[in-house]
Amino acid sequence: MRVYPFYDDNGNLLDYVQVSRYFTLGEFRNACFSLSSENIRQVPIPQNLLYAMDYLRDKIGQPIHINSHFRTIAHEKRKGRSGNSQHTLGKAVDLSGQGLVALIETAVKERNEVYYKLRDFGINAIGIYDNFVHIDTRSPKVSGDLYYWNKKGDSSAKKKDDDDAPIDWGKGLILLLILVFINKHKK
Ligand SMILES: [Zn+2]
Repeated sequence: MRVYPFYDDNGNLLDYVQVSRYFTLGEFRNACFSLSSENIRQVPIPQNLLYAMDYLRDKIGQPIHINSHFRTIAHEKRKGRSGNSQHTLGKAVDLSGQGLVALIETAVKERNEVYYKLRDFGINAIGIYDNFVHIDTRSPKVSGDLYYWNKKGDSSAKKKDDDDAPIDWGKGLILLLILVFINKHKK
């Protein structure tokens, strides 16, 4: 994954650098969250994430705002989060833009062209909120299916802005049952 430094050799901000067709490095820097003591000077951005963002920008024909991209583990912990979010790897963005939530919600519901295009770009997780969407390029599920959560109308989600990977309870339950079974038949 390519890492983009915020400053040039003279210590000047590289905010103007175009990292994709529609987005500048400054937009990512402003969507970066850390403790001030951490002094973050660069961020990793997957190329596929940029492709997906440019595609969505084209699709809605409206500017897209990056609410949140890279977040440090220390920042997450201070916010009371686990620190396992894809944002801590630079693989996730929260985006807002006119028509964006509707576009993504329909894509997931109807598995239309937009859906498959995003999956082709390696978008393996989508989260929907009232005013923004979360997309990330984590590894896909073994089944190939999408990680998906819809928190529209969830007022606690609004305040939290975003969460981490939802826990896969199905897998956890199966593992628990296996452990119980093994324990029972140990003697
Ligand atoms: Zn997010």
